[in-house]
Amino acid sequence: MKAFEYVRPSTIREAIELVATNPKAQFIAGGTNLIDLMKHGIAAPEKLVDINHLPLKKIEKRDDFLRIGALVLNSEVASHKRVLASHPLLAQALNAGASGQLRNMATVGGNLLQRTRCPYFYDRAFPCNKRIPGSGCGALGGINRMHAIFGVPEKPDPKSCIAVHPSDLSVALSALEATVLVQGHRGERQIPMADFYRLPNNRPEQDTTLSNGELITAVEIPDAVFQKHVHYLKVRDRASYAFALVSVAAALDIDQNRIKTARLSMGGVAHKPWRLFDAEKMLTGQAVSETVFRQAAEAAMQGARAFEHNAYKLRVAPNAIVQALKLAAGLS
Ligand code: SF4
Repeated sequence: MKAFEYVRPSTIREAIELVATNPKAQFIAGGTNLIDLMKHGIAAPEKLVDINHLPLKKIEKRDDFLRIGALVLNSEVASHKRVLASHPLLAQALNAGASGQLRNMATVGGNLLQRTRCPYFYDRAFPCNKRIPGSGCGALGGINRMHAIFGVPEKPDPKSCIAVHPSDLSVALSALEATVLVQGHRGERQIPMADFYRLPNNRPEQDTTLSNGELITAVEIPDAVFQKHVHYLKVRDRASYAFALVSVAAALDIDQNRIKTARLSMGGVAHKPWRLFDAEKMLTGQAVSETVFRQAAEAAMQGARAFEHNAYKLRVAPNAIVQALKLAAGLS
């Protein structure tokens, strides 16, 4: 690991200033991903700005939303009474991720900013456009069973990236239409989840729409009616401590067996949480049934495209959507 300077600013403003004015400085909180990246030589910050003691650790109910501070631990969110009562989908998604030890270290902000687990990104013997822009993509001609099926170019070129985003929390936040609060050099911004992550296009090294030095301070989740009929389903290689091959966050508002509102988002299938708008539209107003869920799943899969080793996702994904909807609706 390369030597680095470590600083512990006492205010949010000071922390932002330190990173915004030095492109080689980085925030560190739980460090559960960043330290690995530094050990592998993928990240080599010259300065680490420790934000762990900053006052961003509250979960509070405000007006018509729940605000969760960026430094609240994943385990604290997953077991918080208010979260369990008003937004159980978040707790389900968090408990499906990582291990107990990691959830006790990892923060909400860090969870959103964790980087892809594409093995070629972590192995410096292979080319990777996300690690070194323009160097090529090891996954395109390699083992790509974990990789994306949505948001990928029809004809990937050597500059492409087909990695998937690894966070379970972000998939649930996407379905719940949360907003990410950030603070930077030029003030504060609110970024809807739909605009927080980006597709790789010609800048695969950039995962989010954050500018340099912008710090996530909180996420806000609107009050909604998604308490009773929610399910986070994660398909993975092991029962725990594994990233999603495919995951589905399903939230339904059902009244007298009819779906008033549906929200669906998928993980493990794209460079960002993949919202299933067409399927949501198809479900709205329908009576609850497996047939309707199957039709919605088929609509959701339009535009999916497989590579050499991940064609199984084209079969697993629609089945996962149907199963998540059935479990959310109480059908199975
Ligand atoms: Fe790198 Fe993306 Fe290719 Fe993986 S898929 S090797 S992260 S460019």
